[in-house]
Amino acid sequence: MTNKTQWNEATEAVLGAESILVVTHVKPDGDAIGSLLGLTLALRERGLNVDAAVDGGVPKFLEYLSGTETVYSKLTVSKWDLMISVDASDEERTGLVGAYGREHSGKIINLDHHATNTFFGNIYLVAPESVSATEIVYDWLVHMGGTISQSAAAALLTGLVTDTIGFRTSNVNPRTLEIVRELMLLGAPLHEIIQRTLVSRDYNDLELWKHVFPSIELKDGIISAVVTQTNLKQAGLDDMTDGGLVSTLISVEEAKIAVVFKEQSDNRVEMSFRSVVGFDVSAVAFALGGGGHKQAAGATVEGTMAEVQAQVMPLLQIALKQGEALG
Ligand code: AMP
Ligand code: MN
Ligand code: MN
Repeated sequence: MTNKTQWNEATEAVLGAESILVVTHVKPDGDAIGSLLGLTLALRERGLNVDAAVDGGVPKFLEYLSGTETVYSKLTVSKWDLMISVDASDEERTGLVGAYGREHSGKIINLDHHATNTFFGNIYLVAPESVSATEIVYDWLVHMGGTISQSAAAALLTGLVTDTIGFRTSNVNPRTLEIVRELMLLGAPLHEIIQRTLVSRDYNDLELWKHVFPSIELKDGIISAVVTQTNLKQAGLDDMTDGGLVSTLISVEEAKIAVVFKEQSDNRVEMSFRSVVGFDVSAVAFALGGGGHKQAAGATVEGTMAEVQAQVMPLLQIALKQGEALG
């Protein structure tokens, strides 16, 4: 696990830039938007000229954060002295806005906490022991000096809450809670963030589960489910999702590894992996061209559902055996 944090170089790059673009990963989660907005707002508050962008814009459940209306969903005509990529382990994960930004920016700061980070870019704030990308943004802002507004604090706390699933992951440590305390003192509303990101869900997700549940299988320690394009239509949903099902699957006592196979409309299959402590799904995801963390990872692979399952299940069985051998 490589830790490389060039705080001074990163701060110098930011202070010397007349224009900055911040991007994050496609299909953004709470940590992606939290680190994108937390950093963008904080840098703007320091008088810097900052644009923020993510393919498709901010998802609805995160629209409560300040500044979402300023986030671009597409980039067409502009250039920047500096691009900062947050919460993305590789260049491809930053999607179309990331590709546009790379072509139209002088330098790139890579700020991320994935152990699978590929060290793209020029300056690194890569800290895999951080529970969220927002923790790294927080550390950087403390290093930089100056205040953190309530709006920026709420965005940063959002990433801490969502990537730890409400402080339930094994990497949560006393310092995590110290940062939570600091952000709450700055006015970040912990209860509202938990409610909006972890508790509240759309009825459509349950409608989807009605159709997806028959596909659930538990074999040895691996639990799996399949979401098809047909299921999506049956539930009246436009974009592929598992509605959070993979988290429910890994809560099953007998399961060590969980996977949801999500059929895309273009002969590709997206996968969400979860594991219990002692089992590593990030290596499997990385081998498939994706990435993530030991306990939560993902990848998208070309092929039909049957082909992808035939390729992936043996890899998961190996990860299961390796975990059992070490345990
Ligand atoms: P998800 O199952 O989509 O919630 O993703 C779980 C974790 O895996 C998150 O940390 C994601 O950032 C990471 N992840 C998911 N898909 C990919 C991918 N295609 N490439 C790299 N990382 C991914
Ligand atoms: Mn993320
Ligand atoms: Mn993250």
